Amino acid sequence: MNSSEVSLVAIRPAEKKFANIVWQVSDVCNYRCSYCNRGNWGGQQPNLDTKTYIKTLKSLLSQFKEQGYEAFKIFFSGGEPTYWKPLVEICEFLHSVLDRPLIAINTNMSRSLNWWETHHHLFRDVVASFHIESANQDNYLRNIKYLQCRLPYVACRLLMHDERFEEVVKFSERIKVELDNYLIEYAALFDDLLPHSPMHIYKEKWKADFLETHSYESQRNLDFCMIKDAKSAACLEVYADGNVEVLNATRLISQNRNHFKGWSCSINDSIFINTSGNIRLASCNAGQIIGNIADENVKLLNQPVICPLEVCGCGTDISIPKIRTNKSGGDRA
Ligand code: SF4
Ligand code: SF4
Repeated sequence: MNSSEVSLVAIRPAEKKFANIVWQVSDVCNYRCSYCNRGNWGGQQPNLDTKTYIKTLKSLLSQFKEQGYEAFKIFFSGGEPTYWKPLVEICEFLHSVLDRPLIAINTNMSRSLNWWETHHHLFRDVVASFHIESANQDNYLRNIKYLQCRLPYVACRLLMHDERFEEVVKFSERIKVELDNYLIEYAALFDDLLPHSPMHIYKEKWKADFLETHSYESQRNLDFCMIKDAKSAACLEVYADGNVEVLNATRLISQNRNHFKGWSCSINDSIFINTSGNIRLASCNAGQIIGNIADENVKLLNQPVICPLEVCGCGTDISIPKIRTNKSGGDRA
């Protein structure tokens, strides 16, 4: 473990540089979680123009390739992306034009086992958000059991509902008893499920203590898994003493190391498509809107920026490669 006194000096790709596309595909969701908001389930942006999106993607991917990007990570979120009708056709398109893309999805895991049996091959990473108010616990576990030996990364992301905290913890115990492979993330709530929302404050001490001491738990029986290959789209933390660690954005935030003002940030590696279809570089305010997924003439930019912001607020932005410069302050506040 790196000493917290040693400065972080770079976040860099583990292998070659890769392009990162985060796509919040629609505001359609079959759940209505009390800690969520209409922007994620209101149904005003169903976004169903598959053919146009494929044309724009084709152009964007060609531009990335011209700029030397060889690996691609595409992360689908929503709403509930498995209910987004274009999803399967778009994933099939991505597999047809990219060499071993890393396709990831954040789902509430409400689909049936039959859906996952048919479509799991499209994905490499699945983040299964567990929402105690609406989830069918048996269906959730049945799906995770099926996926645990078929995909290299399946995370059970438990949203820690304040009033039903104990029930969520109890469900985590069930996961640990019933699964051979698991990665459980205990996700503290934000006051609104929007990028850069403030963290929810848990007033009861035992809950705050639980979250302080439980960020994740895992058990991995690799022999049991049939690992599916994808090109590397992982990043590393590089420290001043030469030490490197696999990037963990949640840990960096908890260590107060997510301050990169003055660093050179490769913001052009990462595009974020919101439910209106607007495409912007990163999700922070340093990124600009460069066009819309419904417009195949969108042009990518290819220049890094000097980070102007005091805080890099979300995991996706923290994961963008960046390097400390002479003009930067320290990585700690
Ligand atoms: S938190 Fe997720 S699953 Fe729950 S309503 Fe919002 S988008 Fe749907
Ligand atoms: S806040 Fe934006 S510009 Fe600054 S490091 Fe994070 S992603 Fe890069």
